[in-house]
Amino acid sequence: MRTFNGVIASRGLAIGPVLRLEHSARSMTRVVKEPHKEQARFERAAARAKEELGALQLQANEADKDIFLFQQVLLDDHSLLEEIESHILAGLGAAEAVERAALVVSRRLASVEDPYIRERSTDVLDACHRVADILDGQPRRALTFTEPSVLVADEVYPSDLVGLEPGMLMGLATVGGSAQSHASIIARTMGLPAVIQLGKELMELQNGQTVALDASNGQLILEPGPQLLHQLEERHRSFVTMSGPDLMGRPCLTADGTRIHILANCTAPADIATAMALGAEGVGLLRSEFLLLPGTIPTEDEQYDFYCNCMHAAGGRPVTVRTYDIGADKLSSALPMPTGDNPALGLRGLRFAMAQPQLLQDQLCALLRAAARGPLKVMFPMVGSVQEWDMAMAEVEKAKEILRRRGTPFREDLPFGCMIEIPSAALTAGDIAAHGCAFFSIGTNDLVQYTCAADRMEPGMEPYYQQDCTAVRMLIRMTCEAADKAGIPVSVCGLTAEDPALACSHVRCGVRSLSMSAQSFIPVRDRLGRLNLSAAGRFDL
Ligand code: PEP
Ligand code: MG
Repeated sequence: MRTFNGVIASRGLAIGPVLRLEHSARSMTRVVKEPHKEQARFERAAARAKEELGALQLQANEADKDIFLFQQVLLDDHSLLEEIESHILAGLGAAEAVERAALVVSRRLASVEDPYIRERSTDVLDACHRVADILDGQPRRALTFTEPSVLVADEVYPSDLVGLEPGMLMGLATVGGSAQSHASIIARTMGLPAVIQLGKELMELQNGQTVALDASNGQLILEPGPQLLHQLEERHRSFVTMSGPDLMGRPCLTADGTRIHILANCTAPADIATAMALGAEGVGLLRSEFLLLPGTIPTEDEQYDFYCNCMHAAGGRPVTVRTYDIGADKLSSALPMPTGDNPALGLRGLRFAMAQPQLLQDQLCALLRAAARGPLKVMFPMVGSVQEWDMAMAEVEKAKEILRRRGTPFREDLPFGCMIEIPSAALTAGDIAAHGCAFFSIGTNDLVQYTCAADRMEPGMEPYYQQDCTAVRMLIRMTCEAADKAGIPVSVCGLTAEDPALACSHVRCGVRSLSMSAQSFIPVRDRLGRLNLSAAGRFDL
């Protein structure tokens, strides 16, 4: 038995075999050449992969021969080849283009009704990984998720976590990482246990070894004995059932009766349904950009269906969709960055969307149409000033005009809100409200990083990334005062909302609505129920 100690990113327990994922070993050696050279490299690697698959077919037993034959044929498939070529033309290296295309095509197959075709989606990943490994000069990777497994990785990107076969990913354990990264955030949203910062030795683990990921304790235990397993399971069971049923179904009130609204942070209909079952009063933040991470851009109609499905899953409770927030750790191969990467201070959120007018127009049209079908609200991420707010609202007017000309029904008075996650937005919140903003949602994950000048992705910056510092509290308080004056609601949807002590701090600043992952409802509600606002008073700043 060996124990690795790390930091909790998402609570829970997972027991299962290891599946390794190593990004750095690959990407470090990837030098990207001109597209025609990358295309030629791909073709050579694909030819070699087909030879390898032919050899495997000869060695395989009768039952498995078909798998290798299918993978061989797949590497000549038109739609896959076109997908790869388009990524290469957009500037990606051959290996990355193959990996991205594999995700897109496998996801397409995974959504087909025929179970035989659906199962083949794993073969797409397997065949493409073989080509990428040849391009990287690496030993071949094992089949992706042949059984439910605990992912053990040097690092995890949000795009690694989307489009996976349901039930296969049991938990996440990473060498480094940060609790504010979007991979950690998705783990929380999906209710997956996750432990980060487990150290380099983690990558000594091998595929198939049994581990217990005790994410409520920040530990990963290799080959745990039966007695320990029993103890872990017992402790997990008592945590899950702790005081939940008493609180669910009742409004959340502080000890002195102030009503606090508890909303959920979600990415898709499945996690919305879970959050509603656990007592969410609505969706306070739908991170719509997760639609783009697999590398395809849905059409306006596909987006419209998606937002309608989200509202259906919310069962009549309000759903607040944030428009695409691409940038930093959320990148999509469908939207290559002009500079290759896009750091926290790069072109992000609304600013990136404004540089892709068609993308924003299609999303706004889909949202305006979907809003005619249910209680939808929309907000813009990373607004830095009232001028940027006005530009975003001008795009809304254009989208309405397009729909009017088309004769498509939509909701004329759809409420638009503004995320407050840049200090300049908090400082000028009153102006933004005066320009028609219907609500504020404070994104503390970014507000803290930009106020403290500490990258949220950088574990070494943790001492400077101060979620509860006076400066951040002052900005939250100013936002609440501006909202109060304008008569509009304000909520917090960053990770601080799900920290019971910080949730109380927000409420003391004037916030009355908190949006978080469903796993935090109980501890936050429990703590708010013991907060006496009149006794605690407001903060002296
Ligand atoms: C935030 O910044 O607090 C937020 C909710 O947005 P994201 O974490 O997706 O950047
Ligand atoms: Mg943000």
